[in-house]
Amino acid sequence: MSKVMLITGGGRGIGAAVAKLAARRGYAVGVNYRSHADAAQAVVAEIQRGGGCAIAIQADVSQEDEVLRMFRTLDDRLGRIDALVNNAGILEKQMRVDDMSAERLLRVLSTNVIGAFLCAREAVRRMSTRHGGQGGAIVNVSSAAARLGSPNEYVDYAASKGALDTLTIGLSKEVAPEGIRVNGVRPGTIYTEMHASGGEPGRVDRLKSVIPLRRGGTVDEVAGAIMWLFSDEAGYTSGSFIDVSGGS
Ligand code: NDP
Repeated sequence: MSKVMLITGGGRGIGAAVAKLAARRGYAVGVNYRSHADAAQAVVAEIQRGGGCAIAIQADVSQEDEVLRMFRTLDDRLGRIDALVNNAGILEKQMRVDDMSAERLLRVLSTNVIGAFLCAREAVRRMSTRHGGQGGAIVNVSSAAARLGSPNEYVDYAASKGALDTLTIGLSKEVAPEGIRVNGVRPGTIYTEMHASGGEPGRVDRLKSVIPLRRGGTVDEVAGAIMWLFSDEAGYTSGSFIDVSGGS
């Protein structure tokens, strides 16, 4: 029986790259999306054309009832969960803190932190040997912003990713004795829609000069690091972070 991976925000960007790579490595894949059903269905179709197993599941991860429904769907359709990638995330427009509302911070926290918490909790309830599960692994997609703070641009987003990193550390220690590893990946500047929606046009190209490797990263470079954390080679790695940020 194939191992099962759920990827939140799996229809686009980094999440879609992880879904496709995981399918190539033999996982049956749950591709979660919030609003872009066509994108998620396209990922599923591509995986199925390659002989893999994938389903698309709609849910807004910031909503508890929707997360519970998503996991019930996964239970019914794929029967188990071995791997969770908490990838869904939002970045709002660049803004100095002077102009930032508390509502904006709450929106960002709702998806980037509460969403990851709710999905991790449902995964732990199924994976933990304490609940009769077989163990598993979770990877949280954080950001280099958690270390750098994103001054003058997105301090709200950076704060959300800092909280996600602390959740990763605490959760990893809590559930390691129950057979679950929890790690994080911190991408730097990656070519995806996120920069088109959150940053000014051409932002990635402008940033090249301050990235030590002098380029933006690709979704496949992030997906590779995420998949390593699920591999047997990473069996003794928990509560750790891989920076995929071009040396930033
Ligand atoms: P994209 O903007 O390309 O895609 C975001 C994905 O998240 C979409 O699939 C979207 O679904 C989904 N999503 C957003 N909110 C929710 C929600 N509430 N519930 C369910 N799904 C949701 O992002 P990236 O691929 O660039 O980013 C993926 C992750 O990587 C994020 O956590 C981001 O913070 C992190 N990251 C990205 C960096 C970059 O440079 N791109 C740098 C550092 C970190 P839908 O399309 O259906 O709305």
